[in-house]
Amino acid sequence: MKKLLSVIVSVYNEEAALKTFYQETIPVLKTISWDYQLVFVNDGSRDKSLEILKGLAETDEHVKIISFSRNFGHEAAMIAGIDYSHGDGIICMDADLQHPPEYIPEIIKNFEAGIEVINMVRTKNESAGWFKNLASTAFYKVINMLSDVKFESNASDFFAISGRVAEVLRKDYREKVRFLRGYVQNVGFKKSTIEYEAHARVAGESKYSIRKLFQFSVNTIVCFSNLPLKLGVFAGMFAAALGMLVLIYTLFTRNGAPSGYATIVILNCFMFAILFLLVGIIGEYIAILFAELKDRPIYIVEETKNL
Ligand code: UDP
Ligand code: MG
Repeated sequence: MKKLLSVIVSVYNEEAALKTFYQETIPVLKTISWDYQLVFVNDGSRDKSLEILKGLAETDEHVKIISFSRNFGHEAAMIAGIDYSHGDGIICMDADLQHPPEYIPEIIKNFEAGIEVINMVRTKNESAGWFKNLASTAFYKVINMLSDVKFESNASDFFAISGRVAEVLRKDYREKVRFLRGYVQNVGFKKSTIEYEAHARVAGESKYSIRKLFQFSVNTIVCFSNLPLKLGVFAGMFAAALGMLVLIYTLFTRNGAPSGYATIVILNCFMFAILFLLVGIIGEYIAILFAELKDRPIYIVEETKNL
């Protein structure tokens, strides 16, 4: 029996890109020796994306649609795609052709060689701009410093996993706040990386604002490291040492009473800054605990097609 490849595509307001994506991807999928399905996950688009997808699904049985009741985010879309597809191999990619479908045959070759996790690493990102590129590099530096598990920098949401790995993700990685890319890199199994060049978006614009990316970075650090929580201990030790110095200084210069005003103000500001920062960090962890505790769904499906 032929093996099945599921290609999962997250779609959020991509009306301008979808047709081109379909036209460029299908010919590639037709060349491989596996059966294939194209699973589009409509993440609450407010434009004509869903209509366009329905049109494609009408004429092509290979096109499957999962449509969310509202926008749940890119990761939720990928998770839903993984939950609903049953391929022997699964590829996640974006709808804007920044993840070139030309690499699919190479991914299949890797699968056939028994590799179960294939990380697509981008060598350059033409459309991200210097700030996003710099921020991305800094983010990976920090997360690799803080976390025990190591992350491939420049990894993207373009990756391929075997059915077995997908099963692990379906069963055991159901956190509400998460970093899917991080899980994929850390489940183990036989791994490989393929380098690719990210092109500019075919149409439309990026859906990730700087603010979203920042929140995303904070969440990832909190998900993968407990070190920030322990900063309080270091801050405490530091404050104690500083206090000791000031104590000695004060004891020896006690004669004129009102001097030392600057010291008091500076120390006060400084100590409060540290204190609030630590409270904030604890807050981030509590927020995540709270989300876990509420146990709300990662996504809600409104309708599906061809599934
Ligand atoms: N996307 C999504 N939900 C969102 C934001 C984005 O499903 O809330 C999809 C989007 O349609 C695209 C992919 O995720 O297929 C990557 O988004 P985008 O291209 O905007 O990000 P960038 O490539 O700029 O990092
Ligand atoms: Mg993109």
